[in-house]
Amino acid sequence: MTAAPEQVDVLGVAREQVLEGGVGLSEEQVLDVLRLPDDRIPELLELAHQVRMRWCGPEVEVEGIVSLKTGGCPEDCHFCSQSGQFPSPVRSAWLDIPGLVRAARQTADTGATEFCIVAAVRGPDKRLLSQVRDGIKAIRDDGNDIQIACSLGMLTQEQVDELVAMGVHRYNHNLETARSHFPNVVTTHSWEERWETLRMVRAAGMEVCCGGIIGMGETLAQRAEFAVQLASLEPDEVPLNFLIPNPGTPYEDYPVVEGPDALRVVGAFRLALPRTILRFAGGREVTLGDLGAKQGMLGGVNAIIVGNYLTNLGRPAQDDLDMLRDLSMPIKELGKAL
Ligand code: SF4
Repeated sequence: MTAAPEQVDVLGVAREQVLEGGVGLSEEQVLDVLRLPDDRIPELLELAHQVRMRWCGPEVEVEGIVSLKTGGCPEDCHFCSQSGQFPSPVRSAWLDIPGLVRAARQTADTGATEFCIVAAVRGPDKRLLSQVRDGIKAIRDDGNDIQIACSLGMLTQEQVDELVAMGVHRYNHNLETARSHFPNVVTTHSWEERWETLRMVRAAGMEVCCGGIIGMGETLAQRAEFAVQLASLEPDEVPLNFLIPNPGTPYEDYPVVEGPDALRVVGAFRLALPRTILRFAGGREVTLGDLGAKQGMLGGVNAIIVGNYLTNLGRPAQDDLDMLRDLSMPIKELGKAL
């Protein structure tokens, strides 16, 4: 009789491969992590925290975002209350330049290093780009040297070059979910079109910020697929959102992700992306609450968005800054980030 093959423990393997070697987990390994029983979550988070400290360091990157153009987007991303295709309560609105400058100043005052200008569009038109250009100039004229990121949808090569010329430091463009699941989430553009924008952004020398949303009906295998697809892009930052089932969207009745599942995702993504800034973005209050957010920050996350997140109001910036102080986590300073 031959003995049954010994079960390989994925956390044991990860300790050597990821913590010691700095090599992210494979898709199969990520799936094993996502299937860990609840009683192993503390061990997972502890390992993920060690990986983050070893390969990213102790500092936390704080970012504020502002919506320059809200709502009325022609795309049909099923999670998004800013799509003009669904009867959601979000109405189209533009922010003026003085409002943008004020938001940048408030963001810098929290100690944040990054200020992201966001617009709900398929891609920018001339008017939007000239607003962004004027806005960045006004922020600089105000004496604010915070780093500027943009999230303006899909870009042409010419638009990529324009943003570089404006001094935009990082571009956010989420792949949203696994490639195999994307057609169930968005039908008005493809995953590949998004990938092409990211490729141009990277080639032009801007930092790449690319993440997605967990809880849109994807399987555990698709969560693992997504983590590894993101890793292959080698993004500088991955924002991790958990679905908020927004009223009026096709996903309004979806259940929120359970806390233990969200924590497994946090740990698994850190082990797949050992050197990447992993940012808590939308949905963490709903999914994880205060305690869970702390567990996530001690489980591999090393960046947060403070204040408002577009259409879903986050908690006040000060609450998050207090949380970081309680956890003795230093905020990355602008001087070091530049
Ligand atoms: S996610 Fe972006 S592209 Fe999709 S509908 Fe919302 S604003 Fe438009």
